Amino acid sequence: MDSAVARLNEVEAQMGETEELVAARELVGQHQGEVRQIQERQKTLDWDAEEARRKALEIEGKLYGGTVKNPKELEDLQADLSSLRSQLRKREDALLEVMLELEEAESVLKEAETALADIESGWKAEQASLAETQAVLNREIQALEAKRSRQIEGMDRAPLSLYQTLRERRQGAAVAVVERGLCQGCRISLPMSILQKARSGLGLVQCVSCERILLVK
Ligand SMILES: [Zn+2]
Repeated sequence: MDSAVARLNEVEAQMGETEELVAARELVGQHQGEVRQIQERQKTLDWDAEEARRKALEIEGKLYGGTVKNPKELEDLQADLSSLRSQLRKREDALLEVMLELEEAESVLKEAETALADIESGWKAEQASLAETQAVLNREIQALEAKRSRQIEGMDRAPLSLYQTLRERRQGAAVAVVERGLCQGCRISLPMSILQKARSGLGLVQCVSCERILLVK
């Protein structure tokens, strides 16, 4: 039962999200944020370029529409137009750069998403197998507990409480096997009288040194 409980604890410690999974998910989130940021910049630049194009068309309309005749006014309009065109070129260059940046960020994001999907599917399979082991161990422990309660039914309280006390005092090992006259719990050589008593099988006999209940095989 102790070993089944220890295995169960080990299995349960491995259940839940791994550092690797959490890190992969965080990385995807980080790259998603970067992509969104670039998309925002692209939108602003798009809007600015559209605005410059619209203004340029408006000025061109005035310049070539024939309604403005004053040379000074026409000169000013011409100057505005060329300044707008140069602004527009700059914005279009910037837009092109942002689009390249976006393409790169999207491909990095895709890589991170693929890596996350791989890690996730491996993790899911592992978790399923751990859950299966957990269920098997829980059934095993339940069966052992039932067996234990059946076995201690009608037993004397005194030896049971001695057993429990020794288990607590001796790291779960309340019983020691005797081999060639030695207590296997503490390796001391047992006196002949104790050995004889233990061999007789009448009542519990404890080691004179470690106090464990002796079992002669
Ligand atoms: Zn001993």
